[in-house]
Amino acid sequence: MTTLDELPIRDDLRGLTPYGAPQLDVPVRLNTNENSYPVPEAVADAIGKALAAELRDLNRYPDRDAVALRADLAAYLGHGLTVEQVWAANGSNEIQQQLLQAFGGPGRTALGFTPAYSMHPLLALGAGTRWVPAQRGVDFGLTADEAVAQVRTHRPDVVFLCSPNNPTGTALDPAVVAAVLDAAPGMVVVDEAYAEFARPGTVSALAVLPGHPRLVVTRTMSKAFGFAGGRLGYLAADPAVVAAVQLVRLPYHLSALTQAAARAALAHRDALLATVEAIMGQRDRIVAELRARGLRVADSDANFVLFQVGGDQAVAWRALLEQGVLVRDVGLPGWLRVTAGTPAETDAFLTAMESL
Ligand code: PMP
Repeated sequence: MTTLDELPIRDDLRGLTPYGAPQLDVPVRLNTNENSYPVPEAVADAIGKALAAELRDLNRYPDRDAVALRADLAAYLGHGLTVEQVWAANGSNEIQQQLLQAFGGPGRTALGFTPAYSMHPLLALGAGTRWVPAQRGVDFGLTADEAVAQVRTHRPDVVFLCSPNNPTGTALDPAVVAAVLDAAPGMVVVDEAYAEFARPGTVSALAVLPGHPRLVVTRTMSKAFGFAGGRLGYLAADPAVVAAVQLVRLPYHLSALTQAAARAALAHRDALLATVEAIMGQRDRIVAELRARGLRVADSDANFVLFQVGGDQAVAWRALLEQGVLVRDVGLPGWLRVTAGTPAETDAFLTAMESL
C-alpha cells in the first residue's frame, strides 16, 4: 500500500492530518453547532418540488453566477444590498477559500485572533497563505487597541474577524471592526456564521459595508436555517469583491440542485428561522445553569456555549461521551464547547455534567 509520504505531496502538507470533528453515532450530538431541529415537513416538501423541477434539465450546466439565488440572499440580508454585492458558494468555508485564493496566496499573509474558527488557518494553508496567529486578550476578549496593535505589527493581506466568535461565542464590539478596517492594509473578513443567534443590541458588520470596499461579511445557511447538509454559504461586500472571487471560483461551482434547494429554503425562511428563538432560550439556559453551578462560562451570542470544566477537558469530554453526550474539545486547556439544541438535549447535557 502506498503511504501519503511516498507521494510527491507539497512540503507544507507533509505530516498533516485532515480537519474533522468526530462524527460519532451517539444519542446527543452537540459538537458541530448544527441546528438540532429537522427541516419541517412543509419545507422539505417545497424543497423536494423545487429539486424535481430541475431534474430534466440536469443535462445542462447551472447558472454559473447563481443570480436568482444571490438576489434572494440580498433580499434576506436587507441593508439595501443588491445582487451585485452578494456571492454564494458551497458553505461559507468555500466562500472563505475563494477569498484567500483571490486576496491571499504565496508570499501573502492572513491573520486571525486565536482562539477563533479553526478552519481559517487551514483554508489559508490550502491557499498557500502564511497564517499569523494573533492573540485575544483577557477572558478571550478582543479590544480595538489589542486588535489594531497586532494588525499594525504584521500588516496582513487578509484579516479574519469572527463575530460571534467560534469557539467563545461572544460577538465583537463594532468598534473593533471599525478600528481594524482603519488599520488593516488589506481585506477584512468578518465571519458572521452565527449572526442570527446574537443577543439584542449586537450590530452586524453589514451596517458598515457602505464606503468600505475592503470589508467582506460572510454568512451561512448551515446554522440558523438548519441547512448544513444543503451546503450554502454567502458573502456581502462591494461589487468589486464579487468580481475578484469570480476570478478564482470553479465554473458552475454551485449545482442546479443546490441553487434550487437553497432558494426553496429561503422562500420558507420564516418556518426555518422559527427555531432560532427556542435555541437561544436553550443557550441562555445552559449559560445560566452552568454559572449557577460555579463554572466559568463565556457570554454567548451563538448557538453554542464555551465553559470551563475545572480539570482536564479531554477527561471531561470522554466522561460526557460515556453518557451519550458528544461535545467539542477545541483544544483549549480546561474548556469545552457545547451546542445549544432542543430542550431534551439540554436536559441530557446538564444531567451528564453532574457526573463530572
Ligand atoms: N464560520 C464559522 C465561525 C463556523 O463555525 C462554521 C461552521 N462550523 C463555518 C464558518 C462554516 O460553515 P459552512 O461552511 O457550513 O457555511
